[in-house]
Amino acid sequence: MYTISHAFSGFLILRILIEISPEIYSKSMIFFMFSIIFSNLPDLDVFWSKTLNDHHVSFFHSPIFWSIISLVMIIILPRQRFLSILLIINVFFHLFTDYLTGRTAGIAIFFPFSTKEYSIFKLDKKDGNFSAFNIKESKRFFLKYFKNKTQVLIEGAILVAGIISIMI
Ligand SMILES: [Zn+2]
Repeated sequence: MYTISHAFSGFLILRILIEISPEIYSKSMIFFMFSIIFSNLPDLDVFWSKTLNDHHVSFFHSPIFWSIISLVMIIILPRQRFLSILLIINVFFHLFTDYLTGRTAGIAIFFPFSTKEYSIFKLDKKDGNFSAFNIKESKRFFLKYFKNKTQVLIEGAILVAGIISIMI
């Protein structure tokens, strides 16, 4: 899923948390900033991955890694539990949406014990065999990205829900 879609999924999560706990969460700039950062945190691995198709096989896209981080945060930061909750929901939703919308990279559910990637649709590894910072290849990938209408619909629905959630 693209960065912008992850960011709007963060807004959607914030909106749901505001509904559940309006005394803690709000539509303040600080919460929007944390939502953008947390919703995109797993994709930091793109900076040290050689190719787009292998960037998910890292600790940052590992549910096991984030489960441990979540547990540690909840234990050592009891006063910032609201922030830990925002982070945990965002990173796990990121992994789930990558599982749904991945074209060339899935989610290595059992990483670091296994590098086998899982995804709802069949992955086309050769399509993502380029650096994420290669502009020409990224443009070609962008055009191919719209071939799977179901995945486009899923990502589009999240994006629109995110936009609506901050407007209402
Ligand atoms: Zn990702």
